Amino acid sequence: MTPTDTAGTAGAAAVAVAFTAHFGHAPDGLWQAPGRVNLIGEHTDYNEGLVLPFAIDRTTTVAVAARSDRRVLLASAFGAAAPVEFDLDTFNPETFEPGPAGAWAAYPAGVAWELERAGVSVPGFELFVSSDVPVGAGLSSSAALECAVASALAALAGADLAATDLADIGRRAENNVVGAPTGIMDQYASMLGAEDCAVYLDCRDGSFARVPLGLEEAGLVCLVIDTKVSHAHASGGYAARRASCARGAELMGVAALRDLGAADLPRAESILDGETFRRVRHIVHENERVARTAGLLESRGAAAIGALLDASHRSMRDDFEISCPELDLAVDTARAAGAIGARMTGGGFGGSAIALVPGPDIGRVEEAVQQAFAGHGFRAPDIFAVRAAAGARRL
Ligand code: ADP
Ligand code: MG
Repeated sequence: MTPTDTAGTAGAAAVAVAFTAHFGHAPDGLWQAPGRVNLIGEHTDYNEGLVLPFAIDRTTTVAVAARSDRRVLLASAFGAAAPVEFDLDTFNPETFEPGPAGAWAAYPAGVAWELERAGVSVPGFELFVSSDVPVGAGLSSSAALECAVASALAALAGADLAATDLADIGRRAENNVVGAPTGIMDQYASMLGAEDCAVYLDCRDGSFARVPLGLEEAGLVCLVIDTKVSHAHASGGYAARRASCARGAELMGVAALRDLGAADLPRAESILDGETFRRVRHIVHENERVARTAGLLESRGAAAIGALLDASHRSMRDDFEISCPELDLAVDTARAAGAIGARMTGGGFGGSAIALVPGPDIGRVEEAVQQAFAGHGFRAPDIFAVRAAAGARRL
């Protein structure tokens, strides 16, 4: 048994116990889905472009039991003591208001609703959630939750849906019920991840390939630096960037920014305002970097991708303007202390950075980042290693 299996089993037992404590009987089964790190390809997903995320060894587990009626009872180690309750027959995303302590319930409720809209007849159910994916850290605890719930409910309903269909259900729940206008990257990574592989995904047609990461062979560890600066996808900067990209595509006469290449940038510069141009330039170059990263992983291995990660960070900092002082400090300090490449990951405005660090330098990088944050009066970051791990599964 691998260390992950042991941890999974112990964690699973605890979730089953918590389920039983809440609902007074054992669950029918347990389903687990991982968070993700995006290695490279930021804000390219909703521009119908390329991304290269990997599922991580931080997971969300749901214990679930079917009911004979259409009631749904949702509880989380995370939320209030009393479960959130509703009826599948009367559920309406417009009027669903579980209150601040139950706001998280929109994710599982949304998944049930979207499954039903897709023609799957979901039974009533009881569900308990437990997770070690940090919330709001840019590691997609939201997709982990959606994908674990989608996998569980499809199984309860006896529906034979492909992993990519379940990913789409999760994304629609987040877009239509939670109200966060995210792309498909997070759910695809969580559903399709594999040990030591990144998921090279074309967000236009949903085609994907698993690309071996080979971090261990390269003597590298992927460190996550969670700045503890919280981001908010549903509002503000994220929506503004989406609007800029849509405007850029419209003015350039293309369906999506994915359709532009470096050769189009001079024309873009001549017809777009300065800010929109810089947003467009980030997307064009970022798509190229994703393709080059996937190619380099295959031809030369992970040790060759550092400069692309660095360039991606600079582009997000200067052109797309989604970084923040904490992320920049994490990236710059990690690089100076020995990382071969580093960048912010996720939607931006906070969350986490990743750094590829040679094994012997891990301690030095952690210490340097902690000291730099303390020196700047920033909140102490959480720093931990992640592995590329399997996607959603039944335990
Ligand atoms: P991220 O996906 O980067 O972690 P999001 O804001 O997209 O951040 O999603 C976080 C939200 O997902 C939480 O605020 C909560 O509503 C929900 N969530 C995540 N994990 C859990 C959990 N274990 N239990 C209940 N809700 C969760
Ligand atoms: Mg999220």
